[in-house]
Amino acid sequence: MPGKMLFASGVGTERARSAAASRRGVRRRKRETLEEKSTRVNAISARLALTYPDVECPLAHQNTFELLVAVMLSAQCTDAAVNKVTPELFRRYPDAAALSRASTREIEALIRTLGLFRAKAKSLQRCAQQLVDEFEGQVPATMEELTKLAGVGRKTANVILGHAFATPGIAVDTHCKRLSNRLGLTRQQDPTRIERDLNRLLPPEQWTGFSHRLIIHGRRVCHARKPNCGGCALRQWCPSREIAAASSGRRRKRPRRQWASALVRPPS
Ligand code: SF4
Repeated sequence: MPGKMLFASGVGTERARSAAASRRGVRRRKRETLEEKSTRVNAISARLALTYPDVECPLAHQNTFELLVAVMLSAQCTDAAVNKVTPELFRRYPDAAALSRASTREIEALIRTLGLFRAKAKSLQRCAQQLVDEFEGQVPATMEELTKLAGVGRKTANVILGHAFATPGIAVDTHCKRLSNRLGLTRQQDPTRIERDLNRLLPPEQWTGFSHRLIIHGRRVCHARKPNCGGCALRQWCPSREIAAASSGRRRKRPRRQWASALVRPPS
């Protein structure tokens, strides 16, 4: 019977793999249950809150309109660079109506020190026009409405919702994406799917703070090229904690995930 042959052949292959693995001394990795992962992510969240108690938005702003503009400008830029250009930008265009009347050339001239300044100037002008035309000049307070605005994706919308409207949201930027994967909280690369995975693991009241702190940790410790695993406060919960040693070794080895040893008690 072809079906039986296939099944028998599968078992044989599996046994052969196990035998080969045990000859090489490779132990099977323990698969983390959802409950274990949830316990681990709560421990990570608690430790992040201890390490970075202050989660104020580092982008200078006086109101929700300014916050929206600053977050839009911050794509692929440092917060410090954004904070240098926004005082003059906000002085000349203090609200959506004023910004909607500016030409893209005028906006470009004020933000030209930032990366992608032409595209950003265009988005800012169009976004301001939409705010005037569709929202009476006010920044809307829902994900659905925010993501209709030019230049506003889920990441920007979640920052606005979390900081301006106290609506929980996980902002997935490059740091959040990298750390979520290294910490074994997701296997996804798409920001929307990462957001969904993290949403499932944490209660809503932790979403905004958790993603903000993960971003800070990515900037200060878990760098893209050379993470400082030795000085990392999350080390005990991180299955990728040998990543630095592996990347600084003579041969670049794939870091081994250590689920079992990562499943330890939350910080005391
Ligand atoms: S232990 Fe290393 S890989 Fe894991 S979060 Fe910390 S710095 Fe990043």
